[in-house]
Amino acid sequence: MHACEHNHDHAHGLKGSSLEGALDRAERRVEAAGERLTPIRRRALDLLLRAGGPVKAYDLMAGFGPGGEPAKPPTVYRALDFLMKRGLVHKIERLNAFMACGHAEGDEAHTAAFLVCDCCGDAREIEPPPSAAVEAAAKASGYALTGVTLEAHGLCPDCAAQ
Ligand SMILES: [Zn+2]
Ligand SMILES: [Zn+2]
Ligand SMILES: [Zn+2]
Repeated sequence: MHACEHNHDHAHGLKGSSLEGALDRAERRVEAAGERLTPIRRRALDLLLRAGGPVKAYDLMAGFGPGGEPAKPPTVYRALDFLMKRGLVHKIERLNAFMACGHAEGDEAHTAAFLVCDCCGDAREIEPPPSAAVEAAAKASGYALTGVTLEAHGLCPDCAAQ
């Protein structure tokens, strides 16, 4: 993901008790919706939370198994689809990559908003601006929205400084 030569400190990944806490919260949210966080779904979320940034699907597949063995694409895509429906993972189209939701208490259908670095490919989830204007425009056009994702792109502080 870090294509450029710039100096980065990408230490947003979770580990230890914060990782366990995030997985437990995700499990409770999934169970509250009457679903299950199966081992495969949990593994996909675990890998994304540890990465702390955008990860391409083929990188997830590559080391998916508990011993680092690769997984088949449909297995991983099904898990990602499920996690996205529950609002636990977002897809960043510009990077064609997936990222764990950065909001511990985000609801399932929240508007996801990202700052994306065009140079190093890092991304950060921010508080979404009110999406009322988007919803009003959709209503006026007769669109039934199922989700809103905003992607603002430019340079991260590390890349902008160099
Ligand atoms: Zn989110
Ligand atoms: Zn950058
Ligand atoms: Zn850069």
